[in-house]
Amino acid sequence: MIKVAVTGAAGRMGGRIITLVTEAEGLKVAGAVEMAGHPRLDEDAGYVAGCGDLGVKITDSLELALSDADVLIDFTWPDVTVGNAEICAKLGKAMVVGTTGLNQEQKKIINRAGEQTPVVFAPNMSVGVNVCFKILKEIAATLGDDFDVEIVELHHKMKKDSPSGTAVRMGEIVADALGRDYNEVANYHREGMCGERPHEEIGMQTVRGGDIVGEHTVYFVGMGERIELTHRAMSRDMFARGAVRAAGWLAGKPPGLYDMQAVLGLE
Ligand code: NAD
Repeated sequence: MIKVAVTGAAGRMGGRIITLVTEAEGLKVAGAVEMAGHPRLDEDAGYVAGCGDLGVKITDSLELALSDADVLIDFTWPDVTVGNAEICAKLGKAMVVGTTGLNQEQKKIINRAGEQTPVVFAPNMSVGVNVCFKILKEIAATLGDDFDVEIVELHHKMKKDSPSGTAVRMGEIVADALGRDYNEVANYHREGMCGERPHEEIGMQTVRGGDIVGEHTVYFVGMGERIELTHRAMSRDMFARGAVRAAGWLAGKPPGLYDMQAVLGLE
């Protein structure tokens, strides 16, 4: 039995992850964590998630939650996630990182944790998006420099980071396939007399509103034709299911930084 602790236990993703862990064969919830002062502390994690009592109380101590766990699933906030990664590395606990919006420094801390313990770090845990990642590389490499690349992503109005981690990853994959440096060619803003579009640019636009779970479209626009690759998320469960699958996959793996391509065997 693989024992799982969940941080952000009362959050949108945390609640679904707790529920899906209880439904997964060979996995059980062994710990649940929320931030100090959270109104749901000391309540049963299963009750809060809406899947019935589990006998696991939500605590604000990660060390306590990990004392009987093999792996942590973390969908929280960037500064919280990096602190949690350092604790997992110190204690030798495996970790699945779903949090997005990490800056370069914070990503380095996750990389370092991967040197000491097995870590899956993926901005998008859905099977469909990861298949998109794989075919995006092929499309970009095949079309080459003749097609302009633009990415548009839509999310709910509560989302804190922009653009989404998934959209950035898509941009990085396309840039890599075209031999460009994403950080140099990404353009997040056009307004006024900004001139003609440089051909190497990768445009990135975000839409925020209502309860959109998540949509991503990559446009490859040529002269007289265009390809649009779109992924639409209909519910959060596919992310949560991917995270639970990653937690099961990590058991027994050596230290290392893995992504969902590895978990899903898409490499
Ligand atoms: P949310 O705000 O609903 O949940 C975050 C939770 O973390 C909150 O309940 C908050 O109280 C809790 N938290 C804050 N500090 C904490 C601490 N110190 N210890 C424990 N818990 C703490 O957000 P959400 O919609 O669940 O998203 C969380 C993150 O997951 C975001 O970064 C989001 O972009 C990302 N996300 C990733 C994927 C993916 O597939 N990788 C999919 C969906 C969302």
